[in-house]
Amino acid sequence: MEETTDINRELMLDANATAGILYEIFGVEMTASPTECANCGNEGEVGALLAFVQGPGIVLRCSTCENVVLRIVQTPDATYLDARGAVYLRLAR
Ligand SMILES: [Zn+2]
Repeated sequence: MEETTDINRELMLDANATAGILYEIFGVEMTASPTECANCGNEGEVGALLAFVQGPGIVLRCSTCENVVLRIVQTPDATYLDARGAVYLRLAR
């Protein structure tokens, strides 16, 4: 029985829920924006990342290597964005 080897897919958010949160933070539609994983170099759209609810925030993981690309925590008066897992994020102007 190997049930702890994979990340908990029951905590995955659907793409629409993720899009709403990202729009609220960045003010632009992010799901079609390109990004690159700092761990494996996989390039893809933000909407293709795996989104998970963990504690008070959400975590977006690379769909290839499951590295944490973005971590977002919202408090009553601030949003914390940890993007160290991304080489870049592209925000359309
Ligand atoms: Zn990766």
